[in-house]
Amino acid sequence: MKKIPQTPFDVNQIRRDFPILSKKINGKPLIYFDNAATTQKSEKVIDAVCQYYKYDNANIHRGVHTLSETATAIYEKTREKVKTFLNAKESDEIIYVRGTTEAINLVANSYGRQFLEEGDEIILSEMEHHSNIVPWQQLCDEKKLKLRVIPINDKGELLLDEFEKLICPRTKFISIVYISNSLGTINPIKQIIHKAHEHEIPVLVDGAQSTSHMMVDVQDLDCDFYTISGHKLYGPTGIGVLYGKKHLLEKMPPYQGGGDMIRSVSFKKTTYNVLPNKFEAGTPNIAGVVGLGAAVDYINTIGLDVIAHYEHDLFKYATNTLSNIDGLKIIGTAADKTAVISFLCGDIHPHDIGTILDHNGIAIRAGHHCTQPLMERLGLTATARVSLAFYNTKSEIDYFAESIPNLFRIFS
Ligand code: PMP
Repeated sequence: MKKIPQTPFDVNQIRRDFPILSKKINGKPLIYFDNAATTQKSEKVIDAVCQYYKYDNANIHRGVHTLSETATAIYEKTREKVKTFLNAKESDEIIYVRGTTEAINLVANSYGRQFLEEGDEIILSEMEHHSNIVPWQQLCDEKKLKLRVIPINDKGELLLDEFEKLICPRTKFISIVYISNSLGTINPIKQIIHKAHEHEIPVLVDGAQSTSHMMVDVQDLDCDFYTISGHKLYGPTGIGVLYGKKHLLEKMPPYQGGGDMIRSVSFKKTTYNVLPNKFEAGTPNIAGVVGLGAAVDYINTIGLDVIAHYEHDLFKYATNTLSNIDGLKIIGTAADKTAVISFLCGDIHPHDIGTILDHNGIAIRAGHHCTQPLMERLGLTATARVSLAFYNTKSEIDYFAESIPNLFRIFS
């Protein structure tokens, strides 16, 4: 992969790139620990979107005028950027969608409806986000398929032996999260894909969390599908990517019908466009694509390897610090983890933890994190969750840790 020149990592300098990080919440400096829900946007991303609307706004593809040609060029150039970012073979393998949820729905509705038949089985895992469960359940209801679920151990790791036992001649698809948004577990996705391919089973990787924390090379992983949510990658909401191997995307029917995805339309017969347009019906989120491109550029100037290194150090520091707080219990202790720490404080409800911390300017998430089956497996209804990004600091973690004893005092 082409190496992009990087500037040395200076977290204070980086923080200045994100306007929101200088905001005060309840009179206290904002400590943003809700990055697994969505990440903050750098000035570069915000400016790119503003710039587009101020000076370049036009609809893409259909126009013959200069503005439309400019908008189309930006839109397609970003596809190239994303292709390079993921090390996909071709830019046709990059489909713009709203985010991971839409990407999975696209694959379930297009690939699933076309190629899966009654009695076939789909393997998921116990730690999936609802968006990697519900579309498959809907497909199962419609086509009389079966869902099989890889169990986890108490640390929050997949039981790979059990996974292998689930594979059978009826297994026709596997859809697995790379990094769990609730536990931070990094799944051995390459190993899973390798095993699946021994049985010629295609694998979709839910990359909603992983893309911002580690370098992803879809050719090296050899995944058949990979999903991105732009807003978790420091880009805008409402834009994401489905990567798919070309030979699979080519044989899949369109997901939605409308403008742009057709070659010709008549009342007798409609023929469809080639990739990637076949899957991009209607006017897309052009400004979102512009912002996503700016986010990828921004990340490239720092370097995902540099980001991963900094975040890993920060994550270890946070784990040690939280482990030493009396009464605080970390949920999810997998050997391979990053960025996400779920926890409980005695029997204080996670929502109360979140509300009290907010008084101190600390934004965390509390709830089931859209992983209710995982919560059920762990015998919980909710956790509190700290999720880190490369603009977070050790002093923020210290401040967070100092706020916890007060929480216990309030609820004692
Ligand atoms: N999968 C995982 C692991 C996630 O963390 C999320 C978002 N929390 C999703 C899927 C859904 O992503 P989006 O809402 O951006 O479509």
